[in-house]
Amino acid sequence: MKERIESLRVRLSQIPLEALLVSKPENLRYLSGFSGGEGFILISKQAQLLAVDFRYLEQVAQQAPDFQLFRLRGDLTEHLADLAATVGVKQVGFESAHLTFLQYQQLSKASRDGGLEFVPTSGLVEELRIVKEPGELSLIQKAAEVTDLCFEHVRRIVSPGMTERQLCWEIEKFMREAGADGLAFDTIVASGPNAALPHAQPGGRALAPGEPIVVDMGARWQGYCSDFTRTICLGEPDETFRKVYAVTLQANEAAARQIRAGMMGQAADDLARRVIVEAGYGESFGHGLGHGVGLEIHEAPRLRVDSRDVLSEGMVFTIEPGIYLPGWGGVRIEDLAVLETGGSRLLSLGTKDPVVPLPK
Ligand code: ZN
Ligand code: ZN
Repeated sequence: MKERIESLRVRLSQIPLEALLVSKPENLRYLSGFSGGEGFILISKQAQLLAVDFRYLEQVAQQAPDFQLFRLRGDLTEHLADLAATVGVKQVGFESAHLTFLQYQQLSKASRDGGLEFVPTSGLVEELRIVKEPGELSLIQKAAEVTDLCFEHVRRIVSPGMTERQLCWEIEKFMREAGADGLAFDTIVASGPNAALPHAQPGGRALAPGEPIVVDMGARWQGYCSDFTRTICLGEPDETFRKVYAVTLQANEAAARQIRAGMMGQAADDLARRVIVEAGYGESFGHGLGHGVGLEIHEAPRLRVDSRDVLSEGMVFTIEPGIYLPGWGGVRIEDLAVLETGGSRLLSLGTKDPVVPLPK
């Protein structure tokens, strides 16, 4: 944590900015270890202070002993000038993507009244989070392992007649019992025509043989997420399934094989998109190839047609091409990968054989 804070201080001195008010829960956790979510960090050249209300005082003392504790009684607006005075600054940056407009109005009024300058910033902590440290990588890897095990469990228990919602519940139970904090996001189980919706909401539809079933799931392990999708078929798939699956898999593998450090997000996206376009399904791959994963399920870098994010070693992201055909269904194959010197290394190892034999 000390190094993270020092890196942030270097960044603040470059802008230059006297202090930064951090409010986004994942950034609070990244900088301090405090996992309570509700609070504010104020970092200046000299000081680092964590402001929380009564509910979190003990938790901060345990999780973030290097931070000066500041007790909030009521709203932050009433304390902003006080906080800045404690730290000895006249200029405070804030995370513009995380404050609501109402909070912004209240805080900027409070800062004016207190003779402070309130400066919008964006992505300062996220920039640090984009490359994972070895400790972070091992937590993501653990989340990915649990997810792989969960998929083996899914293949063992899935059967015709089970509803999408029932399978979601089995997945959640498995993740919890395996020791995960919980799910990284709401599980998607989308069967038959529902599979044509990339972010379908699981419902009471019963799974049937021969149709595509998209299962998109992830675990959260000590705060860190995994993200994984497989498309399966109970019994023998139809001709459309075989064709669409083969193209999606080819796109997934082409990207995994060719992504390199130094590439832009849009070039990585193109590695998979090219395969799908050439097969005639270009219009049916309407989302990006992937996204960064860490404390948040969707974070930088972005791998999509409009992304100029430059990929570098130590970044963790998904590779998830998909083809969606309204009325029929869809196929998505998503792996989590870490970028290393020679290219990407998959953290998701679940089988890509889509066929789950029907129970005899
Ligand atoms: Zn996913
Ligand atoms: Zn994803």
